[in-house]
Amino acid sequence: MMNIDFSNKAYLVTGGASGIGAAVVQYLLEHGGSAVIADINDEGGQQLLAQYPVQLRYLHTDVTDFTALEAACALAETEFGRLDGAVNCAGIGSFGTAVEMPLEEWHKVINIDLNGVFYACRAAIPIMRKSGGGCLVNIASLSGVRADYSFAAYNAAKAGVINFTRTLGLDHGGENIRAIAVCPGLIDTPLTAIPTAIDAVNDDWLSRIPLARAGSAEEVAQLVVFLLSPAASYITGTEIIIDGGMGSSNNQPNLPALFAAM
Ligand code: NAP
Repeated sequence: MMNIDFSNKAYLVTGGASGIGAAVVQYLLEHGGSAVIADINDEGGQQLLAQYPVQLRYLHTDVTDFTALEAACALAETEFGRLDGAVNCAGIGSFGTAVEMPLEEWHKVINIDLNGVFYACRAAIPIMRKSGGGCLVNIASLSGVRADYSFAAYNAAKAGVINFTRTLGLDHGGENIRAIAVCPGLIDTPLTAIPTAIDAVNDDWLSRIPLARAGSAEEVAQLVVFLLSPAASYITGTEIIIDGGMGSSNNQPNLPALFAAM
């Protein structure tokens, strides 16, 4: 495990009350940092707040509300005196093909998964400038790099996050602001708990992952905190996949295995 010191650093973490975001928050706080969680999951947020009352603030924030995200960033500045970056994890999944999906569902997913990331970055950057720059880590997905069956809105939103992050890297590199999209594969969090509780679904999913298991939120958090740290000082405007190898296949059949079974 990495041991990175985040003393005197403060971050906005959207979706920080659960899953990957909560693991990032815990790492930051346990390594001397401070954070503001912007989430609608009040129960998860309050639980973390009870654990870390000094270094953490929780603000009920819907990421589709730009003004609320501005307030969350301002809270970091007033409470901790600075903002060194944002880790944008808030997100939802959604099934539906382009034709079957209700239009409202498309707009909801784009609003949370894409617009929410844009709003958080737009709110964070002016305050990060005052601290001399920093780092934005946007949690996209392997589903932003390749497509899934019946995941039209999510695929579009996550691909948008990846290319938007490249734009951030171009536009803000000159002010010492780095931006990286992280693209997880299957990670064991409340988001994936329902489908993976079905044995047949879980077995099929794991069979497509060379490491033959789901990743943990802590494994993604390790990557995120590395990217936030000075150790990643030359990484910006790009995406990094963390998927146990799932996305490495071009989906051709495993011919030797098929021949051996004949
Ligand atoms: P999670 O445990 O469900 O955490 C997501 C958090 O975001 C939850 O606290 C959720 O609240 C919150 N949220 C949802 N809508 C929001 C909104 N409108 N405003 C503010 N907060 C909102 O999921 P996770 O697995 O950690 O996912 C984190 C990110 O990773 C997401 O962007 C997801 O798409 C991405 N990702 C996850 C996986 C995976 O396999 N888990 C794979 C690839 C990418 P509620 O609990 O109340 O909904």
